[in-house]
Amino acid sequence: MSGFNFDVITLFPKAFELISNLGVITRAQDKSLIDVNLYDLREYGEGSYRQVDDKPYGGGAGMVLKPEPIYKAYESISKLPKSKTLLMTPQGKVLKQKDLLRWSNLDQIIIICGQYEGFDERIRCLADEEISIGDYVLSGGEIPAITIINGLTRLLPGTLGDPNSLIEESHNSNLLEYPQYTRPPIYRDMKVPDILLSGNHNEIKSWRKEQRLKRTTERRKDLYQQDN
Ligand code: SAH
Repeated sequence: MSGFNFDVITLFPKAFELISNLGVITRAQDKSLIDVNLYDLREYGEGSYRQVDDKPYGGGAGMVLKPEPIYKAYESISKLPKSKTLLMTPQGKVLKQKDLLRWSNLDQIIIICGQYEGFDERIRCLADEEISIGDYVLSGGEIPAITIINGLTRLLPGTLGDPNSLIEESHNSNLLEYPQYTRPPIYRDMKVPDILLSGNHNEIKSWRKEQRLKRTTERRKDLYQQDN
């Protein structure tokens, strides 16, 4: 074991094949900066049918993940000294860049993915934090888990080509990034602002700062009004 450990409990381990094809994560895996270990919930299921879910007490639509398989899978994971357990749920705290930064100082994140109508309430006791990736409902916690693995991995030293790209990007501080351009200087009558071609670094710097403020107030007043 080396690097940052992600240990994920999921009923759909195949969904995580995606992360081996996502640039930054592939590179981080190749360089052993991260380890992603998948725990197939089905293998911890009960009886010959490997049952993992059941009907909700009190009635209602759909199936709910049972506590025993998730507890069993969870207890089979070796915990590193700096470890946190995250439960994926639309009822959790909405994920922010600040959370990813905070977690990037850990050694390990254990992620529990729900499915179907959700999970037995007693599963919540395993979690240090309950996390939602936004105010909408997906069919499972796999895409939220991949979101966290992706967002956190790119913050780890050695994963990005140029670590400076983290400094001024959107959501680092409460400002969105300034508009970016590359060659050619004119494309279909759309011109790169003269100032970016001027070579005057001080002016470029203040233009960018202005643009960040403008963008944020136009698009995300809510961010601009937050003080941290
Ligand atoms: N009936 C549940 C939702 C179940 S969705 C409720 O109303 O709370 C099935 C599973 O998908 C959840 O247990 C959770 O693990 C995952 N999921 C769905 N939407 C999510 C979101 N926005 N953020 C994080 N996880 C989510």
